[in-house]
Amino acid sequence: MTTQATTVPAYAAPAAKAPLERTTIPRRAVGEHDVLIEIKYAGICHSDIHQARDGWGEGIFPMVPGHEIAGVVTETGPGVTAFAVGDRVGVGCMVDSCRVCDNCRAGFQQHCANGSVMTYNALDKNGEPTYGGYSTHIVVDEAFTVRIPDGLSLDVAAPLLCAGITVYSPLRHWNAGPGVKVAVVGLGGLGHMAVKIANALGAEVTVLSQSLRKKDDGLSLGARHYYATSDDATFEALAGTFDLIISTVSAPLPLDRFLGLLKTDGTMVNVGAPEEPVSLNLFSLIGGRKALAGSTIGGIPETQEMLDFCAEHGLGAEIEVIRADQVNEAYERVLRSDVRYRFVIDTATI
Ligand code: NAP
Ligand code: ZN
Ligand code: ZN
Repeated sequence: MTTQATTVPAYAAPAAKAPLERTTIPRRAVGEHDVLIEIKYAGICHSDIHQARDGWGEGIFPMVPGHEIAGVVTETGPGVTAFAVGDRVGVGCMVDSCRVCDNCRAGFQQHCANGSVMTYNALDKNGEPTYGGYSTHIVVDEAFTVRIPDGLSLDVAAPLLCAGITVYSPLRHWNAGPGVKVAVVGLGGLGHMAVKIANALGAEVTVLSQSLRKKDDGLSLGARHYYATSDDATFEALAGTFDLIISTVSAPLPLDRFLGLLKTDGTMVNVGAPEEPVSLNLFSLIGGRKALAGSTIGGIPETQEMLDFCAEHGLGAEIEVIRADQVNEAYERVLRSDVRYRFVIDTATI
């Protein structure tokens, strides 16, 4: 039993925009309600890149990114009731929240009124910086740990902890299902999971990608239709088509063009988090009583629900497993939209 604080290997960005390099970081002692997790796989989310390059501002460096964590419990604090040594578990974007506000009580920790503690690039309740999944171990409160069902292998499960829940939550909230036409904009990490999950929910899915380069993939992931947004004819052909559009695009989009693709009373939900503001002509919403919405990850109960749903439907991420020393190259490839469809670090290589 190692209840003491430890030092573990990790990959960190020493400063904004600097390449990530191997280092060591502290992990706190295993507290009363904590589990110590041996991380097996960590997915690379585009949010890692935004933050490691300080594109959203106020980054805390050195930064160890990684909020798509899959591993195995190797130690439990004395008060832990939900997990035991050997359990296969996941950790997503949050590691704590106030737990007493209305949102926390309702299970919407991602909307904690007092600010949830993010898995990295944040300060915990003791004012210590949090470090993410590009490391070999993490200590997390059991209340922010979820169970990875046996049907999912850890490598393909890791990306579900952010990419999966971020698209599952709005698809459920806006009732994607039979008879509902859903467009997914951007076929990357989030987008490919949106296609799989929306299809499994019974919706009719269309991919709107920059080009037709990934069309075969999109159709085999579960999309019924696939269009290129670089072709102006797409916006004419699909005008007024969709009940729901989920944008996963990491860069600013011409919103007015996409809102034109909604039916009356349709909703466009933005989960992409571009570094620059976007512009909007409000006439795009007025005609057709359309809605433009946003969504961020999901609460802990919904994250467990999503994992169970994905296991039941056999939905893991499409992944390319890399060594830790390939992380900088992987970042460049994500920035070029050259990813099919999630890079996952084998943390044994750290
Ligand atoms: P990703 O794998 O890079 O996928 C983004 C996709 O967007 C690309 O594959 C590309 O798809 C498309 N795209 C990229 N640049 C574009 C441009 N200039 N114009 C049009 N389309 C473009 O990234 P991800 O990990 O899925 O994350 C996507 C975004 O969601 C990021 O901004 C990330 O920070 C954000 N995010 C938000 C949440 C949340 O809680 N709201 C959670 C996780 C991530 P095509 O090649 O098919 O066009
Ligand atoms: Zn993410
Ligand atoms: Zn709260």
